[in-house]
Amino acid sequence: MGKVLIIGAGGVGTVVANKVAQNSDVFTEIMLASRTRSKCDTIAEDVKRRTGVTIQTAQVDADSIPELVKLFNEYKPELVINVALPYQDLTIMDACLECGVNYLDTANYEPKDEAKFEYKWQWAYKEKFEKAGLTAILGCGFDPGVTSIYTAYAAKHHFDEMHYLDIVDCNAGDHGKAFATNFNPEINIREVTQKGKYWENGQWIETKPHEIHQPLNYPEIGPKESYVIYHEELESLVKNFPTLKRARFWMTFGQEYLTHLRVIQNIGMARIDEVEYNGQKIVPIQFLKAVLPDPGELGENYTGETSIGCRIRGIKDGKERTYYVYNNCSHEAAYKETGAQGVSYTTGVPATIGAMMFMQGIWKKPGVYNVEEFNPDPFMEQLNKQGLPWHELFDIDLEV
Ligand code: NDP
Repeated sequence: MGKVLIIGAGGVGTVVANKVAQNSDVFTEIMLASRTRSKCDTIAEDVKRRTGVTIQTAQVDADSIPELVKLFNEYKPELVINVALPYQDLTIMDACLECGVNYLDTANYEPKDEAKFEYKWQWAYKEKFEKAGLTAILGCGFDPGVTSIYTAYAAKHHFDEMHYLDIVDCNAGDHGKAFATNFNPEINIREVTQKGKYWENGQWIETKPHEIHQPLNYPEIGPKESYVIYHEELESLVKNFPTLKRARFWMTFGQEYLTHLRVIQNIGMARIDEVEYNGQKIVPIQFLKAVLPDPGELGENYTGETSIGCRIRGIKDGKERTYYVYNNCSHEAAYKETGAQGVSYTTGVPATIGAMMFMQGIWKKPGVYNVEEFNPDPFMEQLNKQGLPWHELFDIDLEV
């Protein structure tokens, strides 16, 4: 049905390349481009071996609009799947506008020099995309992404009014390393070390980092200490579902992980500003990334599961209802299928489904949209087919 260009050859890019190739009836031509072409070639060879599908590769610096424009004009994709880093969102969107290409990503824009992610920069492109007749789909990973679609699905089918939303994200996997992050360390550490924030009664409540925590029970996993952190989908969900009185995001962390994080922060290795070292300027967190395990390489010995879902309380037919919708994903199964671990898998599969929704004309409307603004039903159907089946529980104790 159409030509797709994937940008970014990390863990998530690996999964997207595999899943897009598995759906070659929808994605008839595929290119994978990134900063380091050899990484694209390695993934393309692996995908060829697994699926028999050929993926073209290219080198591109996605910080450079002229380089992107050149590549887009040569390859002429219908859609770009941006799974590089959040820093590249705006340059890729600019190049899309210049060349008439549609856009999808999994993480909202973040400036490099300020650990602050917000949708305002990308929402500001709405009118430009509308005028150009192009679709931009924002935040189509798992969280944001599937959690937002779960919420839209709950609103459509199970509630007259949703009041309380708790997104719960547990990684009960074990990669055997003393410390590693599950996706890009720089982005991950910036995300989890910031202050906590949640929505309550029409305003944002700020907390100290990891201030609010309690054990939560995860299906087939059991109780895990879970911490309220700020996560980007909250910003669009409270806007798109205004009946929500409270919306929070919980993530599990082990004690070892938190201790490492605290030390990293205390010794200044999480700093995002430049420091002088041996006559050269370096950014500590970028140096740290270079010495930490590569998240893309964690897959081989990764055991256990992730469990991510939405716990929602509200009203249906005049009565209070609770609802829990979730997916559990096995790191081992993800690795076996794509060569990448569960966190990359749970991000790359939804990105592929979102791209499929666009290619099939189901999620196609000029403008810039968060995923919960589209029809959730065909996406939910594909989750079951593409490796991320979901389960529902009704009228249970939500614990939160
Ligand atoms: P990685 O660091 O493993 O991969 C990022 C890739 O982008 C690398 O191949 C890197 O190239 C490439 N890249 C970085 N800068 C540029 C540039 N200027 N030009 C071209 N390519 C570039 O990250 P992940 O695969 O773990 O994550 C990818 C994205 O997915 C991130 O934005 C992350 O925030 C998002 N994510 C979203 C989640 C969700 O649920 N919504 C969950 C997890 C991740 P090189 O190899 O040369 O470094």
